[in-house]
Amino acid sequence: MNEVHDARALYIHIPFCRSKCPYCSFYSIADGEGLTASYVEALLKQIENLSDRFSTIYIGGGTPTVLSLGQLKKLLGSLKKYVGRSVEFTVEANPESLTADKIKLFLDSGVNRISIGVQSLSDGRLAQLGRIHDSKTAVNAVMLSRKNGFRNINIDLIAGLLEDHPDSMKAEVEEAAGLPVTHISFYILSYEKGTPFYRKLKRGEIKPAADEIVSYIYTEVADFLGSRGFGHYEVSNFAKKGFESRHNLNYWANGPYTGLGSSACSYAGGVRSGNIADIGRYIADINTGKSPVSFREKLSPKRSAGETAAFKVRTAEGIDYGWFKKKTGFNLPDKAEAIGKLVTEGLIKFKKKGGARTGICLTKKGFLFCDIVSRELL
Ligand code: SF4
Repeated sequence: MNEVHDARALYIHIPFCRSKCPYCSFYSIADGEGLTASYVEALLKQIENLSDRFSTIYIGGGTPTVLSLGQLKKLLGSLKKYVGRSVEFTVEANPESLTADKIKLFLDSGVNRISIGVQSLSDGRLAQLGRIHDSKTAVNAVMLSRKNGFRNINIDLIAGLLEDHPDSMKAEVEEAAGLPVTHISFYILSYEKGTPFYRKLKRGEIKPAADEIVSYIYTEVADFLGSRGFGHYEVSNFAKKGFESRHNLNYWANGPYTGLGSSACSYAGGVRSGNIADIGRYIADINTGKSPVSFREKLSPKRSAGETAAFKVRTAEGIDYGWFKKKTGFNLPDKAEAIGKLVTEGLIKFKKKGGARTGICLTKKGFLFCDIVSRELL
């Protein structure tokens, strides 16, 4: 995985949800039914103008499965020429809007990976998270996907609510690992600015779980998933061997990607750009032949190298010095002060070959404090 490659990823953002979850900071709207048809038409126009080949395609959101079957058919049909056996093609789905018809359409269209927003298998925790599905619907969505032919299924789980207890979390993860899934994304709830949860936190109406409890839960869950054959290959991601998300590995290697849709970002050759985070204006821009790009920045080679280090260190395999030099032109050991500090703090360790230092990677403790490590290496 530590190879330098120029695979380009395609991301398509569907910024619609049935209801807005109180912890979510992604750009999406809950009352956009009247806009979905013209949004898909705008996406089709953008897709028509693509010139690259892609090694991975990811339709995310938002909630792609809020689109109607007909809209999804149009969207997936327009991607036909980019789909191939070697392309990892993922669609995100939420339990309440995933139907057998949509699953069949995905499979017929070359989608080979489905990522289901389960979040929890406890009805109480789902209600606390403001989710509109229950655990039975979540399990049914996984089973239906498997029954209809998906071999590569991810589910997302979230921990970090005040009442979360290590034993009940472990029981939940145990149940999740018993489902026919190949990949589990396990996130710790964060209180992002601008969300209802953040405002409640500031007003003292909710309290996050204590750091020690969250750390304990995370470590226990990671150990448990490891014992069930889910390799801990990135801070929040666990996969059965060979089912690591290639799309996300490209992000963590700071590889190039093209983002389509409102608020989607693109990155290539040190240039990052983002589309306008306003569905109506995005559609109007596309329809009038204007660029929907609302910002573009050229990163300096040093900044780009810093970002590569900050992203890549999140993976279990860490950063090989040779890989980093080839990819960025910079020597990672030149960051001796930051690296020395992180090693002393027990957050990273050296990778060695024949006694020589060949790179760095996170320690078990480092996985818990990865944001600190990334900040230091930026
Ligand atoms: S369904 Fe997903 S994208 Fe939509 S509001 Fe909830 S967490 Fe955010």
